[in-house]
Amino acid sequence: MESLAEAVKSGERRPLAKAITLVESTRPDDRAQALLLVDSVIDATGGSIRVGISGTPGVGKSTFIEALGLMLVERGLKVAVLAVDPSSSRHGGSILGDKTRMPGLAVHPLAFIRPSPSGGTLGGVARRTREAMLLCEAAGFDVVLVETVGVGQSEIAVANLTDCFVLLMAPAGGDELQGVKRGIMELADVLAVNKSDGVLLPIATATLSDYSSALKLLRPRTPFWVPQALAISAITGAGIEDLWNTVEHYRLAMVATGGWAARRADQNSTWLWDELHERVIAAFRSDPRVAAALAEAEREVRSGRRNPGTTASDIMAQFAK
Ligand code: GDP
Repeated sequence: MESLAEAVKSGERRPLAKAITLVESTRPDDRAQALLLVDSVIDATGGSIRVGISGTPGVGKSTFIEALGLMLVERGLKVAVLAVDPSSSRHGGSILGDKTRMPGLAVHPLAFIRPSPSGGTLGGVARRTREAMLLCEAAGFDVVLVETVGVGQSEIAVANLTDCFVLLMAPAGGDELQGVKRGIMELADVLAVNKSDGVLLPIATATLSDYSSALKLLRPRTPFWVPQALAISAITGAGIEDLWNTVEHYRLAMVATGGWAARRADQNSTWLWDELHERVIAAFRSDPRVAAALAEAEREVRSGRRNPGTTASDIMAQFAK
């Protein structure tokens, strides 16, 4: 693991890809190795800007990441693209993470694109993405873009992994606008109305003004930043530079006020609790006394003969013995 850790830190992509494969493995012996690996690179992590990007399928995420990523690598920055895609576990096929969606970035020497790990729960996918993100940082990436599809829970997972959450929206009329979940909009640090070009431009402009007003009514995610809405076109490139400048302003504002460090500190403790939950539940389920009591208890609870609350207390008492 020491030599793999050194190879990752050298910035070569092959060891990085190998290291990410290791953290994605669900085999218990691989997991132990993966933890050693992450520990050996941890001193070299934390240096990137972690940007979450979300939006419904078809909103233009891949086109946008290709445009933004190419702009950043042209400035000499190293850009990694990771994906959190719970659909890959549900349907066996991933919506995200297909490298051919970002053809220019996929072949650029300063870029690294990693398809979404398949299988497992959203929590599992998010944890593997978190570790992959740390490995990318150890390999010297300046920007890590974490992409997810707008399907609810995955946005929350990605907002909890990243420093800045960018929500992509499509031009839409008033009724569709109301359908956007408030909780998702509340996560956004930057909201971009994509496809602000050609025949869609007038409706995109109206959409932008609707979202700008809507953002003002939401509870701010941090006291140190007022979420910004702007118009972009991933196809023409219009607004992409402005968007990145907004992300940079956000970073300056958050770093200066301590909001940046506070968010990462909160995320670290969330990650700790996620890991603990997972281990405690695994230990609980694999306990033979619990297993013996559980099947019977579940039958009783399902039939309504026993109260779930008292039953849970009884099983916990078995476990604690
Ligand atoms: P994703 O599913 O969110 O990754 O969306 P894609 O990037 O695959 O884009 C979906 C469709 O929208 C494709 O046909 C793109 O060419 C188109 N598209 C993406 N960005 C823009 C844009 O800025 N303007 C216009 N007019 N079309 C776009």
